[in-house]
Amino acid sequence: MHIPASDQTFTLTIDGLPVEGASTFDVTNPSTGQILTAAPQCSDEQLDQAVAAARGAFPAWAALPVERRRQYLRTMADTIDTHTEMLADLVVQEQGKPRSIARAEVAGLGYWLRATADIALADTVNQDDEERRSITRHVPLGVVAAITPWNYPLGQASFKLGPALLAGNTVVLKPSAFTPLANLKLGEILRDVLPAGVLNVITGTGGLGSRLTSHPGFNKISFTGSTQTGRTVMASAAATLARVTLELGGNDAAIVLPDVDVKQVAAQLFWAAFANSGQICLATKRLYVHADIYDDLARELAELAAAVTLGDPAQDDSVELGPVSNRRQYQTVLDLLNDCRDQGYTFLCGGLPDPETAGYFIRPTLIDNPPDSARIVREEQFGPVLPLLKYTAITDAIARANSSEYGLGASVWGADTEAAHQVAQQLQAGTVWVNESMHLHPQVPFGGHKQSGIGVESGLAGLLAFTNTQTLTIKHPQPTA
Ligand code: NAD
Repeated sequence: MHIPASDQTFTLTIDGLPVEGASTFDVTNPSTGQILTAAPQCSDEQLDQAVAAARGAFPAWAALPVERRRQYLRTMADTIDTHTEMLADLVVQEQGKPRSIARAEVAGLGYWLRATADIALADTVNQDDEERRSITRHVPLGVVAAITPWNYPLGQASFKLGPALLAGNTVVLKPSAFTPLANLKLGEILRDVLPAGVLNVITGTGGLGSRLTSHPGFNKISFTGSTQTGRTVMASAAATLARVTLELGGNDAAIVLPDVDVKQVAAQLFWAAFANSGQICLATKRLYVHADIYDDLARELAELAAAVTLGDPAQDDSVELGPVSNRRQYQTVLDLLNDCRDQGYTFLCGGLPDPETAGYFIRPTLIDNPPDSARIVREEQFGPVLPLLKYTAITDAIARANSSEYGLGASVWGADTEAAHQVAQQLQAGTVWVNESMHLHPQVPFGGHKQSGIGVESGLAGLLAFTNTQTLTIKHPQPTA
């Protein structure tokens, strides 16, 4: 059953209660370009209330045995599972992704919570003898600001909520103002699951994010978004020395070696670049292809691009690609496409959309071997446009792939996996895949090198990032001489 977003009510969650916004802001459906509904705007006072609620809930939550918090995470997952259709439907309407991917996103949230609940957080015994007992343990930080982007509104929350809560912190979650709805409903359905104040969900435009990061009540800012905003977040956190984890932009290179089975690898590479209309931080954004197979692979990719179904996923479940998710990102991608056209680069398929089209649709577009200095090569497109880049010497491909301020992910594709592995080891990125891409797992940390971020999410390392390390030592009474 699909209830249009316009027929639903959306409230902030503060201290376990529904709270109407001080005002509202419009949320747009990217498939139509029309206003979908209004979302609550969190005022400064309501932000203070959310932080106070999280601070108030912190001592009791932190004092719970960790096994009890593990159980809470599993109950959260069970509750989310019972609302899959409702949450997926909101993601489809506000974000524009195909329904099957939206369902997988909701399922992923539950999966991540359950898997995080299973991560062991053990103390280390440093010394235990007649002289002293010394133990290092991991204590919660306090109140966490969780700030997320619009590409996976619930998926991005999943990387933060489980570890933050399991470690004993309380949270104020702020999703992107482009995609507030599913997160507001998440807060609503978890109100009866978690103790009041443990999870607060607030939304708003007009600098709410920067008001969070400069608020003195947070001990940690867990931020996912662009590198540009990440710099601002880090500067803001300097005032209180709040801990930061920054998951930022990427410009992931894929290197295709000449021994691949072109036809087989083409479909994998296509979806590595164009899934979610290219709006994935770890999507392939530059494709380096050996000259021997360049033309064949380009042709296969162009055929796949021509065959893909693009449309409004709320109207048609068989749609494979939706629109670019919001007007701001649409303009960013159009700007890059205009630059490609103005510079005279060759479009193998796709291109600038008909300006009369309603919604922010851009067909998957391949740019034929632009120069390394091209904006479409150097900048993060975060949309359905992919430059194909020809190389002959692998050392050249590696140097060009590494020639970026970003270092989020990368991939290498080849029939000889040992040779591909050798190449992978030379790439500068937080995750490097061989013969696959974008595979993430809750037990495996991921994060960016260079300007793609600071710190990691997921796995034990991601959990530890929500803790302070504390060493306790007990000096035993010593026998008098
Ligand atoms: P963005 O930086 O514009 O916004 C991200 C979040 O920060 C939003 O909630 C936004 O409201 C908030 N925000 C904006 N200005 C702020 C400020 N001054 N202080 C605090 N918060 C602020 O990014 P976006 O357009 O929402 O997302 C796209 C970007 O996110 C891309 O660069 C993409 O690569 C990146 N991203 C990275 C990862 C990762 O894991 N590394 C994952 C997804 C997206």
